[in-house]
Amino acid sequence: LLQLSVPLNFIGFVYREIRQGLTDIEQMFDLLEVQAEVKDAPDAKPLNIEQGAISFKDVHFAYDPARPILKGISFDVPAGKTVAIVGPSGAGKSTMSRLLYRFYDIQSGSITVDGQDVRGVTQKSLRTAIGMVPQDTVLFNDTVAYNIRYGRPSATEAEVKTAAEVAQIAHFIDLLPEGFDTMVGERGLKLSGGEKQRVAIARTILKAPPILILDEATSALDTTTEREIQTALDVVSKNRTTLVIAHRLSTVISADEIIVLKSGEIAERGTHAELLLKNGLYASMWSRQREATQAEEHLKQVREND
Ligand code: ADP
Ligand code: MG
Repeated sequence: LLQLSVPLNFIGFVYREIRQGLTDIEQMFDLLEVQAEVKDAPDAKPLNIEQGAISFKDVHFAYDPARPILKGISFDVPAGKTVAIVGPSGAGKSTMSRLLYRFYDIQSGSITVDGQDVRGVTQKSLRTAIGMVPQDTVLFNDTVAYNIRYGRPSATEAEVKTAAEVAQIAHFIDLLPEGFDTMVGERGLKLSGGEKQRVAIARTILKAPPILILDEATSALDTTTEREIQTALDVVSKNRTTLVIAHRLSTVISADEIIVLKSGEIAERGTHAELLLKNGLYASMWSRQREATQAEEHLKQVREND
C-alpha cells in the first residue's frame, strides 16, 4: 500500500497539472490509464451543436467547499458573438473556461451550450465543439507540423502551412533549421510564450470549432508580438462564439459584452464605451493600463535617444 501511494499521488498531481494547463487531456489519460473525476452521465448524448450559444445561469463553484470561487455568475454568449472576461488575477476567470470545458462540475446553477446542459452530454462531443487556446500551451515533443496538425490529424501539408500563416507564425517557422520538421517542446527547440501561443492558434484554426475559448497570455509581450497575436485571434474568432479572457484591455474594445469579474462576482458589465462612462472598476483598470503603456513607450524613446 505504501509503495502504491507515491505513484497515485503523482498521477493526481499530473492530473491537476493537466487540468490547469488545459492540455491534451484525453491523450494523457490514455497514457496514464486513469479515470477522469468528471464522468459522462449514463444517458449522456452527443452534443447537438447548432450555433454554439453559451449560457451560464447562476453558476456557483468551489474547488474546495470551504472557499467559494464563483458566486452566482449569469451571462450569455449569443451564437457568433464575443464576450470578454476581465478582472484582477485570482478573480476566477480561468475557472470559468475550465467549467465550460467541464473539467469540473459546478455546485449549483447551469452551464448550457445550445440549450443542452454540459453535464448531460458526452465530454468528447463537448470538447470537440470547443477550441481552447490556453494561457500557457504545452507542446508535444515532436515537430512543429505535428503540433499544429494535432488540431485536425487529417489536415494536408498545405492546410498546416495556411493555418500557420493565418496564425502569424509561418515566417518564424520558415527560419527554423528544419522548417516545419523542426523538433520542439521540452526536448527540442524551446519556443517563447508568444510563439507557443501562435502554434496553439494555428492548431485551433485547423480544428475550426464552433466555440472558442481564449485565455490570453499574461506575460509581457512586445507590442509587435502582441499585434501579431491579436491579428491571428481576430481571424479565428470571426463568426465564432468566443469567450475571451483578456489581460490586456486593448484586446476587448470590440467585444459585444465585457464582464468585469471581481472575487467571483460580476462587478460590472457592458460594452467598452458603456463601462468607461460608468467610471468604475473597468474605467480605472483602463486608465491604469494606458498609463503603464505610455510609461513603457516613453522609456523606450528615452533609451533610443541615448
Ligand atoms: P484568474 O484566472 O481570474 O486569475 P483562476 O480562475 O485561475 O483566476 O483562480 C481563481 C481562484 O481559484 C484562485 O484563488 C486560485 O488560487 C483558485 N484555484 C485555481 N485552481 C485551483 C485548484 N485546482 N484548486 C484549488 N484552488 C484553485
Ligand atoms: Mg487565469
